[in-house]
Amino acid sequence: MYSHPKALVLLGPPGSGKGTQASRLSAALEIPAISTGEILRRECQSGSELAKELDRTLRSGQLVSDELMARVVESRLTKGDCKDGCILDGFPRTAEQAGFLDKLLSRLRMPSPVVFDFEVSAAEVIERLRRRRQCPTCGRIYTAENPAATATMLCRNDHAVLIPRADDQPSAIRERLRAHERNATGLVRYYRNRDYHRIAAALSPDQVTAQLYGLLGLSSIAPRTAERVGLWALAAG
Ligand code: AMP
Repeated sequence: MYSHPKALVLLGPPGSGKGTQASRLSAALEIPAISTGEILRRECQSGSELAKELDRTLRSGQLVSDELMARVVESRLTKGDCKDGCILDGFPRTAEQAGFLDKLLSRLRMPSPVVFDFEVSAAEVIERLRRRRQCPTCGRIYTAENPAATATMLCRNDHAVLIPRADDQPSAIRERLRAHERNATGLVRYYRNRDYHRIAAALSPDQVTAQLYGLLGLSSIAPRTAERVGLWALAAG
C-alpha cells in the first residue's frame, strides 16, 4: 500500500471556494488545511512594524512578496502536524512560489503536490465576495443571503457579529482578481504536465466536493481510514 505523505494544492481566484473545500478535505483526511491568507491576517494583529505594512498590503489586495511567503510557508510546513501531508489554500500564487514549494517538499522528503485548479468566472467571484461574511473570533465563513441586511448576523459557533473581510471591498477585490489573472497563466504552465486537475468551481459546494472526492478516489461514505488509503492510492498513480 502506498503511504507517503502528500501535499494538496488548491489554486484559484479569491472566492472560488478553496477555503470551504480545504476544511472539508482536512476533516476527511485528517491533515491540516493551511491558509496563507489566514496566517497573514493573524500576523497583522501583532502590532509590529511588519504587521502594519502587511495590513496595508492585504487591505489593498496586492500580493505579499515571494520572499516573505517562502518564510511563512517553510515555518508552517516544517511543523510536525504536516508530516502526513497538508492542504495548501492560497499558496502558491506565483510560479516562483511554486518552484519554492517543490524545493521545500523535496527537502522534506515529500512527493510533489496534487494540484486542483478552481475555475470560476470573475463575475461570480465578485458576487460571492460581496456576500461573504466572516466571524472575527473563529474565522468561520458565511454567505449572506441579503448582503444589505446583515448587520446582526451572528456566528453559529460563538455568536460574534459577522463582518465583511477588510479586503472584500470593491477596489481590493478588483486588485486581487488582477493579481490572480497576472499569475494564473504562469502557474498553469508550471503545473499542467504534472498531477494537475481543473475543478468546475461555480457549482454548489457539495458538487465541488464530489469532484474532488472523485479525483482523489475517495468515497463519501467510506470511513476516514479508507479515505486516506484512497488518497494515497491516487498519489501512487
Ligand atoms: P486569501 O485569504 O487567500 O484570499 O489571501 C488574502 C491576502 O493575503 C491576499 O490578497 C494577499 O495579499 C495575501 N496572500 C495570501 N497568500 C499569498 C501568497 N501565496 N502570496 C502572496 N500574497 C498572499
